[in-house]
Amino acid sequence: MTIYTGKTKNLGVIGYPVHHSLSPVIQNTVLQSMHLDYAYTALPVKEELLCDAVFGLKALNFTGFNVTIPHKINIMQYLDFIDDAARLIGAVNTVVIKDNKLYGYNTDHEGFINALHDRKFSLENKVVTLLGAGGAARAVIYSLLTAGIKKLYIGARNKEKAQKTANDFSHLGTIEVCNWQEEKFAEWLTQTELLVNTTPLGMYPYTDEMPPVNLAILPTNTLIYDIIYTPEKTKLLLEAEKNNHTILNGEYMLAGQGAAALKKWTNRTDIDIDLMRIALHKSLTGK
Ligand code: NAP
Repeated sequence: MTIYTGKTKNLGVIGYPVHHSLSPVIQNTVLQSMHLDYAYTALPVKEELLCDAVFGLKALNFTGFNVTIPHKINIMQYLDFIDDAARLIGAVNTVVIKDNKLYGYNTDHEGFINALHDRKFSLENKVVTLLGAGGAARAVIYSLLTAGIKKLYIGARNKEKAQKTANDFSHLGTIEVCNWQEEKFAEWLTQTELLVNTTPLGMYPYTDEMPPVNLAILPTNTLIYDIIYTPEKTKLLLEAEKNNHTILNGEYMLAGQGAAALKKWTNRTDIDIDLMRIALHKSLTGK
């Protein structure tokens, strides 16, 4: 049993609701296995109490905290420093408290890219197609454009909204946007080497849904990456497997963002991301 003492450092996740968060499980599993004297808890914070909570955590001498829905954007106004990636992505999911100052980061983009590195999938010069252009897509777009890809296409149900998102990143690379029902979208798919779903289509409980993609026209070596992690295999991934495509789900991204946050709080470079991923997989699937 873990004993917490007066020296134990505090970490947590603020959100509302937050009881379903898997962060306490994955963070505490790794903290305990590395014998790091920290405790990580879920902290329910209602929207109207965000300011009180943030300054409360500072007053309580927390080492840092994760930020989840609905606070990822609103938190930014209370921070002393926001790193460039988080500012561009427009959301903070990790805060470090140091010398009474609040430092904000976005580790989702690290989680996304680390999953591909783990697969030994090089992004250099690749043609990538993204489905959807919401909040998570912003972290994905940042990752892809800073990783040396050749071309980024975005297909979405709402072309105007997606174009607005793309415009925010246009200084990092070329992005073309269309409605995924347009004819040219099919043409883009035939060139695609990595297809990433960032829409919630197929996420539990709507597991019989999938984005309107004709997988048969994708090259056979295209990697299909769905950032959804419940279910383990979305309909998109199941169909992709039937087409003999390699697949990747969102579990590694989720574990990767957690590992990147823990690195920032502890200054340890040896965080065991695999242990975090295994703890996450067990929590999600019971296996
Ligand atoms: P979001 O901000 O609401 O964005 C969702 C995007 O999907 C938008 O582009 C939206 O289009 C589109 N969309 C939503 N419902 C749709 C539908 N029925 N048909 C077509 N397009 C639809 O959500 P988010 O925060 O980006 O999250 C998206 C997914 O990513 C969720 O499943 C979430 O669990 C997952 N995620 C995973 C991780 C991870 O670590 N693995 C991290 C973050 C998010 P409109 O703009 O037209 O509404």
